[in-house]
Amino acid sequence: MSLVEPASQTGQESQGSRASQRLKAELQQKLQYRAEQNLLRQVLQRCGPCQPDSLFGDGQKRVNFCSNDYLGLASHPDVIRAMQVAAEQYGVGSGASHLVTGHCRVHDELAEALADFCGRQKAMLFSTGYMANVGVINALTNPGAPIFQDALNHASLLDGGWLSRGDSRRFAHRDTKDLEAMLIRHHCDSRALIITDGVFSMDGDLAPLPEQVALADKYQATLIVDDAHGIGCLGDTGAGTLSHFGLSASDVPVLVGTLGKSLGTAGAFVAGDEVLIDYLTQFARTHIYTTAMPPPLAAATIAALACLRSETWRQQRLQSLVMRFQQDVANLGLNILPSQTPVQAIVLGEADRAVKASEYLREQGVQVSAIRPPTVPADSARLRVTFSAAHTDEHYERLLDALASLPDDLRG
Ligand SMILES: *Cc1c(COP(=O)(O)O)cnc(C)c1O
Repeated sequence: MSLVEPASQTGQESQGSRASQRLKAELQQKLQYRAEQNLLRQVLQRCGPCQPDSLFGDGQKRVNFCSNDYLGLASHPDVIRAMQVAAEQYGVGSGASHLVTGHCRVHDELAEALADFCGRQKAMLFSTGYMANVGVINALTNPGAPIFQDALNHASLLDGGWLSRGDSRRFAHRDTKDLEAMLIRHHCDSRALIITDGVFSMDGDLAPLPEQVALADKYQATLIVDDAHGIGCLGDTGAGTLSHFGLSASDVPVLVGTLGKSLGTAGAFVAGDEVLIDYLTQFARTHIYTTAMPPPLAAATIAALACLRSETWRQQRLQSLVMRFQQDVANLGLNILPSQTPVQAIVLGEADRAVKASEYLREQGVQVSAIRPPTVPADSARLRVTFSAAHTDEHYERLLDALASLPDDLRG
């Protein structure tokens, strides 16, 4: 016998279903509104590995310029093999959270390798970058303590701020004066946070980290940098945006990195000194109350990091593609934002135009995403091209030819 009475016998059915009808109508209306504005997001199915020559769900092959697999490690044979071997050894799932029995030797090996790579005392793992950001901000703030974020920070940082019950504010993008004015206006306590992306994910530009380090020092705030797109791409050894600027661990005490971009796997880490990491292990709820990363994924990431460090040609290849593209696209008369990173944005303006341009490029055999509001500010819809060390000269030419042939009304 069921423990729950059927709804019809309690007289709840009609009310419940009226409410759900209303909700459904409201949801449909919102979907309709997005569709009318050309803002509806669609899932694009891909078949096979993440690589430049990709086969998509429509049965067509196109050159992929949308992935964050900047170094081409997502399907590197060493990385795949490491995952297979570890799956034989550990099985697939970790079976529990880190603080119960899910934490394996291979997790420690990965955390140590990441700390060493970033020049930090210690690192800890998270299942995703989103969770790392939410967890770190929540653990490091107090209710009401000021949190200053760049207006274009990644959604996971902004959400982390809103969820933390801290006093979240956004300063104008890369605007050090605006940040300082906020620091003066809102007295800092010892838990004040300044939070920024190292490389901005939609524009590809860099945070003014040296100036922000100086401000954090002057106003006694803690600087947190999320270097999801900098790690593997910037700095002499690929150590990221901090290394690019010659900044030390004491300049930026909290460093967040993700594993799903240039490392080609999935997950994230936070690196810092021993006290910080020991503290976060106790207080970062998104680390504590979730299943530990699958051990084979940790093993694959160790292999990916080894490739990143030994195959230095990958970073060089990426840099040369980026520099060529900046020059070539400017020569085509398109509005390309200055960027020395694999994230390259060609601003076209209206959402509709960006969508049509992306469709046009798709017909030419290149996959480039249209990025529209609300991901980017109104009237700055764009094509977002991302490069990978795995792109050959032929892939590159294919993209450039397609861009050169963009019809006038789609050029912005
Ligand atoms: C991709 C990204 C994240 C999220 O990382 P996931 O591991 O994909 O959840 C966080 N911050 C920035 C800046 C990113 O680009």
